Amino acid sequence: MIIGKIAASKRGLLAAALTLGISFCGAAGAVAGEHGHAPHWGYEGEAGPSHWGDISKDNEACKGKSQSPINIEGTSEAPLADISFSYKPSKLNIINNGHTIQVNYDKGSGIKVDGVDYELVQFHFHDPSEHTVGGKSFAMENHLVHKNADGKLAVIGVLIEAGAENAAYKGVFANLPKKANEKKELDVTVIADDLLPKDRAFYTYAGSLTTPPCSEIVTWIVLKTPIQMSKKQIAAFKKIFRNNNRPVQPLNGRTIKVKAAAAAAK
Ligand SMILES: [Zn+2]
Repeated sequence: MIIGKIAASKRGLLAAALTLGISFCGAAGAVAGEHGHAPHWGYEGEAGPSHWGDISKDNEACKGKSQSPINIEGTSEAPLADISFSYKPSKLNIINNGHTIQVNYDKGSGIKVDGVDYELVQFHFHDPSEHTVGGKSFAMENHLVHKNADGKLAVIGVLIEAGAENAAYKGVFANLPKKANEKKELDVTVIADDLLPKDRAFYTYAGSLTTPPCSEIVTWIVLKTPIQMSKKQIAAFKKIFRNNNRPVQPLNGRTIKVKAAAAAAK
């Protein structure tokens, strides 16, 4: 019995240590400008996506009606304005936040959507893609997170398929921090413009963060044209994270607009 008790208390300590150890959680927290200890969440089991809304009161939006990602189909063509991009190069500031690899982008780059300026804050990856198109999933997805003066987000989703090596991603994928909370600041240049396909046709809809707290503050812009990365590049990410994708969420009557005409890069 005593042994049983010790084992139980050890388990308790372990659980506490795990909770503390993982409490830096917060790709989304950082995006939403939140601080402090985020509750533990993950992609499997009791901490997995179907439980996010119940893990903490802060995550109630995860049970909302305008959640992301979604399966993109039944789109309607709309006379949308092109997005204007003004991206400058950034130093490589890369972190493994325990949920993904995130690159924090230097200030001064951004996009204009419907006349509103959004600053590029960071980009990060999911494996496999979170958005699907006509039910098709892609090898990975890059999310470039932009924030406006009101704290609302415009996130560009870049679908990634296996193919040729992608030189624009070389610096990032050669320097992936392997351990949770590991950070690297390197004298390597990243150019956001090169991370996107040349053809900037896009799908757009109103959605949410795809990680807790799932805030419904995101104008999603998923680019129609996938980019390629080599199997080796994708494998480098998979060694650290795999299946860090939230399943697709119900559309609940939202419309997905498509800007069919290719917008030239820049
Ligand atoms: Zn994301």
